[in-house]
Amino acid sequence: MNQTTTVHERRQIYQGRAFAISVDRVTLPSGHTTDMDVVRHPGSVVLVPVTAEGDLILIRQYRYVIDRFVWELPAGTLEPGETLEAAAARECEEEIGLAPRRLERLGAFYPTPGFCDELMTFYRCTELAPPAPDSTVQPDEDEVIEPRTFSPAEVRAMIARGDILDMKTVAAMALIG
Ligand SMILES: [Mg+2]
Repeated sequence: MNQTTTVHERRQIYQGRAFAISVDRVTLPSGHTTDMDVVRHPGSVVLVPVTAEGDLILIRQYRYVIDRFVWELPAGTLEPGETLEAAAARECEEEIGLAPRRLERLGAFYPTPGFCDELMTFYRCTELAPPAPDSTVQPDEDEVIEPRTFSPAEVRAMIARGDILDMKTVAAMALIG
Protein backbone atom coordinates (compact mmCIF):
# COMPACT_ATOMS: atom_id res chain seq x y z
CA MET A 1 0.00 0.00 0.00
CA ASN A 2 1.07 3.58 -0.60
CA GLN A 3 2.73 4.80 2.63
CA THR A 4 1.05 8.18 2.41
CA THR A 5 -2.51 6.85 2.67
CA THR A 6 -3.90 7.02 6.22
CA VAL A 7 -6.83 4.79 7.21
CA HIS A 8 -8.71 6.45 10.08
CA GLU A 9 -11.53 3.95 10.40
CA ARG A 10 -12.68 0.78 8.64
CA ARG A 11 -16.35 -0.03 9.15
CA GLN A 12 -17.39 -3.45 7.88
CA ILE A 13 -20.93 -3.28 6.52
CA TYR A 14 -21.32 -6.82 5.27
CA GLN A 15 -19.50 -10.16 5.21
CA GLY A 16 -20.90 -12.49 2.59
CA ARG A 17 -19.94 -15.82 1.09
CA ALA A 18 -17.75 -14.38 -1.66
CA PHE A 19 -16.71 -10.93 -0.46
CA ALA A 20 -16.94 -8.29 2.28
CA ILE A 21 -18.00 -4.66 2.03
CA SER A 22 -16.57 -1.87 4.18
CA VAL A 23 -16.68 1.90 4.35
CA ASP A 24 -13.19 3.25 5.04
CA ARG A 25 -12.48 6.78 6.28
CA VAL A 26 -9.14 7.60 4.62
CA THR A 27 -6.77 10.44 3.88
CA LEU A 28 -5.48 9.83 0.36
CA PRO A 29 -1.96 10.65 -0.92
CA SER A 30 -3.43 13.91 -2.29
CA GLY A 31 -4.26 14.99 1.30
CA HIS A 32 -8.00 14.70 0.65
CA THR A 33 -10.00 12.94 3.39
CA THR A 34 -13.03 10.95 2.28
CA ASP A 35 -15.14 7.81 2.77
CA MET A 36 -14.37 4.97 0.37
CA ASP A 37 -16.84 2.13 -0.28
CA VAL A 38 -14.68 -0.97 -0.67
CA VAL A 39 -15.40 -4.53 -1.77
CA ARG A 40 -12.75 -6.91 -0.35
CA HIS A 41 -12.42 -10.14 -2.28
CA PRO A 42 -10.18 -13.21 -1.68
CA GLY A 43 -9.02 -13.24 -5.32
CA SER A 44 -9.94 -15.52 -8.17
CA VAL A 45 -8.54 -17.67 -10.93
CA VAL A 46 -9.48 -17.51 -14.61
CA LEU A 47 -8.81 -20.58 -16.73
CA VAL A 48 -7.95 -20.88 -20.38
CA PRO A 49 -8.50 -24.60 -21.06
CA VAL A 50 -6.78 -25.57 -24.31
CA THR A 51 -7.49 -28.95 -25.92
CA ALA A 52 -4.89 -31.10 -27.69
CA GLU A 53 -6.25 -29.65 -30.98
CA GLY A 54 -5.62 -26.08 -29.81
CA ASP A 55 -9.29 -25.24 -29.24
CA LEU A 56 -10.56 -23.37 -26.18
CA ILE A 57 -13.28 -24.55 -23.81
CA LEU A 58 -15.76 -21.87 -22.78
CA ILE A 59 -18.80 -22.23 -20.59
CA ARG A 60 -22.28 -20.81 -20.97
CA GLN A 61 -23.90 -19.95 -17.70
CA TYR A 62 -26.76 -17.93 -16.31
CA ARG A 63 -25.56 -14.83 -14.44
CA TYR A 64 -28.27 -13.72 -12.05
CA VAL A 65 -26.84 -10.22 -11.47
CA ILE A 66 -27.22 -9.26 -15.13
CA ASP A 67 -30.11 -11.70 -15.77
CA ARG A 68 -28.46 -13.13 -18.87
CA PHE A 69 -26.78 -16.24 -20.14
CA VAL A 70 -23.17 -15.48 -21.00
CA TRP A 71 -20.30 -17.27 -22.70
CA GLU A 72 -17.14 -16.97 -20.64
CA LEU A 73 -14.01 -18.78 -19.58
CA PRO A 74 -14.29 -20.92 -16.46
CA ALA A 75 -13.29 -19.06 -13.30
CA GLY A 76 -13.79 -19.06 -9.58
CA THR A 77 -12.96 -17.60 -6.20
CA LEU A 78 -10.12 -18.83 -4.00
CA GLU A 79 -11.18 -20.85 -0.98
CA PRO A 80 -9.59 -20.08 2.40
CA GLY A 81 -6.00 -21.34 2.55
CA GLU A 82 -6.07 -22.54 -1.05
CA THR A 83 -3.13 -21.92 -3.39
CA LEU A 84 -3.75 -20.36 -6.80
CA GLU A 85 -2.69 -23.57 -8.58
CA ALA A 86 -5.00 -25.70 -6.43
CA ALA A 87 -7.90 -23.31 -7.10
CA ALA A 88 -7.18 -23.38 -10.84
CA ALA A 89 -7.16 -27.18 -10.96
CA ARG A 90 -10.30 -27.43 -8.81
CA GLU A 91 -12.30 -24.87 -10.79
CA CYS A 92 -11.27 -26.45 -14.11
CA GLU A 93 -12.54 -29.83 -12.93
CA GLU A 94 -15.71 -28.37 -11.37
CA GLU A 95 -16.72 -26.30 -14.35
CA ILE A 96 -15.68 -28.30 -17.43
CA GLY A 97 -15.32 -31.77 -15.90
CA LEU A 98 -11.68 -32.13 -16.96
CA ALA A 99 -8.60 -32.01 -14.75
CA PRO A 100 -5.56 -30.13 -16.11
CA ARG A 101 -2.24 -31.95 -15.82
CA ARG A 102 -0.43 -28.76 -16.74
CA LEU A 103 -1.02 -25.17 -15.55
CA GLU A 104 0.83 -22.14 -16.89
CA ARG A 105 0.41 -18.76 -15.20
CA LEU A 106 -0.34 -16.10 -17.84
CA GLY A 107 -0.63 -12.99 -15.69
CA ALA A 108 -2.72 -11.31 -12.99
CA PHE A 109 -5.01 -8.28 -13.26
CA TYR A 110 -7.40 -6.18 -11.20
CA PRO A 111 -10.74 -6.10 -13.06
CA THR A 112 -12.26 -3.29 -10.98
CA PRO A 113 -9.61 -1.37 -8.99
CA GLY A 114 -11.96 1.57 -8.40
CA PHE A 115 -13.82 -0.15 -5.59
CA CYS A 116 -12.80 -3.82 -5.45
CA ASP A 117 -9.45 -5.43 -4.54
CA GLU A 118 -10.13 -8.67 -6.43
CA LEU A 119 -7.02 -9.89 -8.24
CA MET A 120 -7.68 -12.31 -11.09
CA THR A 121 -4.86 -14.72 -11.92
CA PHE A 122 -5.01 -16.32 -15.36
CA TYR A 123 -3.85 -19.87 -16.11
CA ARG A 124 -3.54 -21.79 -19.34
CA CYS A 125 -4.80 -25.34 -18.60
CA THR A 126 -3.52 -28.11 -20.87
CA GLU A 127 -3.18 -31.91 -20.93
CA LEU A 128 -6.84 -32.06 -19.90
CA ALA A 129 -7.97 -35.45 -18.66
CA PRO A 130 -11.00 -37.04 -17.00
CA PRO A 131 -10.89 -36.54 -13.22
CA ALA A 132 -9.05 -39.10 -11.10
CA PRO A 133 -11.37 -41.88 -9.82
CA ASP A 134 -10.79 -40.71 -6.22
CA SER A 135 -11.48 -37.04 -7.02
CA THR A 136 -13.74 -35.31 -4.50
CA VAL A 137 -14.42 -32.28 -6.72
CA GLN A 138 -18.16 -31.65 -7.19
CA PRO A 139 -19.89 -29.04 -9.36
CA ASP A 140 -21.26 -26.07 -7.39
CA GLU A 141 -24.98 -26.44 -6.73
CA ASP A 142 -25.71 -22.83 -7.71
CA GLU A 143 -23.92 -23.06 -11.06
CA VAL A 144 -25.63 -24.46 -14.15
CA ILE A 145 -22.87 -24.69 -16.69
CA GLU A 146 -22.68 -25.84 -20.29
CA PRO A 147 -19.10 -26.23 -21.61
CA ARG A 148 -18.34 -26.04 -25.34
CA THR A 149 -15.25 -26.05 -27.50
CA PHE A 150 -14.42 -23.13 -29.83
CA SER A 151 -11.44 -22.31 -31.99
CA PRO A 152 -9.56 -19.16 -30.89
CA ALA A 153 -10.76 -17.48 -34.14
CA GLU A 154 -14.39 -18.27 -33.22
CA VAL A 155 -13.90 -16.73 -29.78
CA ARG A 156 -12.39 -13.59 -31.31
CA ALA A 157 -15.35 -13.35 -33.73
CA MET A 158 -17.78 -13.72 -30.81
CA ILE A 159 -16.01 -10.84 -29.04
CA ALA A 160 -16.14 -8.69 -32.18
CA ARG A 161 -19.87 -9.41 -32.65
CA GLY A 162 -20.66 -8.60 -29.02
CA ASP A 163 -21.64 -12.21 -28.27
CA ILE A 164 -19.05 -12.31 -25.48
CA LEU A 165 -19.71 -9.66 -22.85
CA ASP A 166 -17.43 -10.97 -20.12
CA MET A 167 -14.29 -8.87 -19.78
CA LYS A 168 -12.02 -11.52 -18.22
CA THR A 169 -12.58 -13.60 -21.35
CA VAL A 170 -11.55 -10.67 -23.56
CA ALA A 171 -8.44 -10.11 -21.40
CA ALA A 172 -7.49 -13.77 -21.64
CA MET A 173 -7.61 -13.65 -25.45
CA ALA A 174 -5.08 -10.81 -25.34
CA LEU A 175 -2.82 -12.88 -23.06
CA ILE A 176 -2.72 -15.92 -25.33
CA GLY A 177 -1.85 -13.68 -28.30
MG1 LIG B 1 -17.36 -20.11 -11.47
